[in-house]
Amino acid sequence: MIRNIIFDLGNVIFNFKPEKFLRKFTKDENYIKEYILKVIRSSIWLKLDRGTISIRKAEEEFIKEYPEDREFIGMFFRHWMEMLTPIPENVKILHDLKSNGYRIYILSNFIVEAFDFVKNQHDFLSLFDGKIISGKEKVIKPELEIYQKLINKYNLVPEECIFIDDVHEFLSQAKILNIKTILFARNTDLRTELRNFNVNI
Ligand SMILES: [Mg+2]
Repeated sequence: MIRNIIFDLGNVIFNFKPEKFLRKFTKDENYIKEYILKVIRSSIWLKLDRGTISIRKAEEEFIKEYPEDREFIGMFFRHWMEMLTPIPENVKILHDLKSNGYRIYILSNFIVEAFDFVKNQHDFLSLFDGKIISGKEKVIKPELEIYQKLINKYNLVPEECIFIDDVHEFLSQAKILNIKTILFARNTDLRTELRNFNVNI
């Protein structure tokens, strides 16, 4: 019987769409593609996720590495958290799961400063019964340790858990621990997927 639903945050509860966001600032699609590779897909960004570098320090490092992009990087770092807008239908699911007696958890690669930012803006985050945020724990998905941390911290029985993530690789690791999984892709009907596991929703 499923008792616990574990949610990823980025592109499950909050939108994280850098391409769309960057189009507000430039029409140059090649620049956008390159910028995403240089910044968001970088090893420095992974350090942010892992919580081993501060946002301020990361910005400095990017500017040092790409001085020609100094202005754009500065603009990006002033505004990027604004792209973290809630996905309303999934926030509704959180409320419904709580009303129906399920426990809900966060398991997310998320930068500490960004988590504080969304927490200040959105009361629904207090609905969660527990959370593991990579930036706070200094460990990231897909490392098995982060999944184990969640299980151990909240005494969860893996077979009673479903984990929802938009990244296939992150689900494979959960499966190793016998956690059931749902891939949240563009056309996923999350309610139906949950009902397929006999979740009352
Ligand atoms: Mg995600």
